[in-house]
Amino acid sequence: MDERERALDAAHRSANEFLVTLADRPVWPRASLEEMLDAFGGELPEHGTDPAAVIAEISERADPGLVAIPGGRFFGFVIGATHPAALAADWLVSAWDQNAGSSKLTPATVAMERVAGQWMLEVLGLPSSASVGFVTGGQLANFTCLSTARNAVLMRAGWDLAERGLRAAPPLRFVVGADRHGSIDRAARFLGIGRAEMIVVDSDDQGRMRAEALERALHESAGPLIVCLQAGEVHTGAFDDFSTLIPIARQHDAWVHIDGAFGLWAAASPSLRHLTNGIDQADSWATDAHKTLNVPYDCGMAIVRVPADSIAAFRTGGDYLIYSGLDPWDVTPELSRRARGVPAWAAMRSLGRTGIIALLDRLHQNAVAMAAGLRSVDGIEVLNDVDYTQVMFRLDTDDATRALGEAILADGTAAVTGAQWRGLATLRCSMSSWATTSDDIDRTVAAIRRLAAV
Ligand SMILES: *Cc1c(COP(=O)(O)O)cnc(C)c1O
Repeated sequence: MDERERALDAAHRSANEFLVTLADRPVWPRASLEEMLDAFGGELPEHGTDPAAVIAEISERADPGLVAIPGGRFFGFVIGATHPAALAADWLVSAWDQNAGSSKLTPATVAMERVAGQWMLEVLGLPSSASVGFVTGGQLANFTCLSTARNAVLMRAGWDLAERGLRAAPPLRFVVGADRHGSIDRAARFLGIGRAEMIVVDSDDQGRMRAEALERALHESAGPLIVCLQAGEVHTGAFDDFSTLIPIARQHDAWVHIDGAFGLWAAASPSLRHLTNGIDQADSWATDAHKTLNVPYDCGMAIVRVPADSIAAFRTGGDYLIYSGLDPWDVTPELSRRARGVPAWAAMRSLGRTGIIALLDRLHQNAVAMAAGLRSVDGIEVLNDVDYTQVMFRLDTDDATRALGEAILADGTAAVTGAQWRGLATLRCSMSSWATTSDDIDRTVAAIRRLAAV
């Protein structure tokens, strides 16, 4: 074997070694950042090392600092595992090293990305003519959609942003819900929309925007308008009532954007689709494949109803670039990039429509089972309606809740992460992994029962 083959062989072996330990290794990392800095630090070596030896070194040194995200008992944040077809396809992406911005340059990967986008629009019931920009994740998908929205609503108001800039532009109304994800605020910041300029609309006990509050906010203001709604609140999993809210926004000529990083996928399942009623009426949608579709990082999608709006915001100049219709670089802020559509194509090809539905239904059933198990533990209260994939719970005091959270991570059986909800300390379980079995739920509930009793 030559140097490259030996390196790839070493990576293959250590990847498998890691993956087979997932069932039993502690979920949370055993090593701290400082220990990992010690493990990887030191002077830049003066001389080279054989690539296979480097891979062996990485595997050995990283192991105590790795978190068992692809296993069945990581429930922190909202983080998906990796489907086998998507993982293996992602290895090919690195080996092929295609620069996936241009269809002339890299037709195979651009085709897979385009088809993956079409399949996704179909399973989610979104307009098949929409543009789908593959970006690094939900944060960049929100930014990409909102950047397109800003451009379009200003253009409708007679202001060409590309030509005249933002400084003297008509003031924009940027309307958000009280329980929006933090990435909306960050996207607004990148777009020159200040925190004090955002119009924040009240939400209900599950985090859903209140319709009468939206109506009031829109009547009390004027000017080009973007309304941000949400599919899947990160604590409760709640969905805004799109079929009520979107018509209200439409009456005021709004661009309606939906942050559906993990929630948009509910539309793929006949038993969960009711949560997303009316979702297809929006102008743009942000979602992640690396969450609910279980492809590796990084893979988010920025979906825009009218492709011409994406092109107006993002098509670049430069006479050395070759244009041919709607290329990936026409609809996102990126130029050179990874062929991140390939693992998305592989996941959908391998799962098929029924597999995608089964995945969604299982994530929901796991959430229901986890909530039932937690309710059976003395002192635990489940705080949200478990309509989708999120379960939020607490003990009777903030201190006891935080202590339980720390004890769960130290125990290592499972990982859940903490949050604040309506001023209370809580713990969150997010069901986002195809790998989670009912045995994983039972082991997790048993560990929490044991730890809550001390
Ligand atoms: C995770 C998440 C995001 C951000 O997505 P990234 O992929 O982490 O960039 C945005 N909105 C919601 C609702 C999320 O859950």
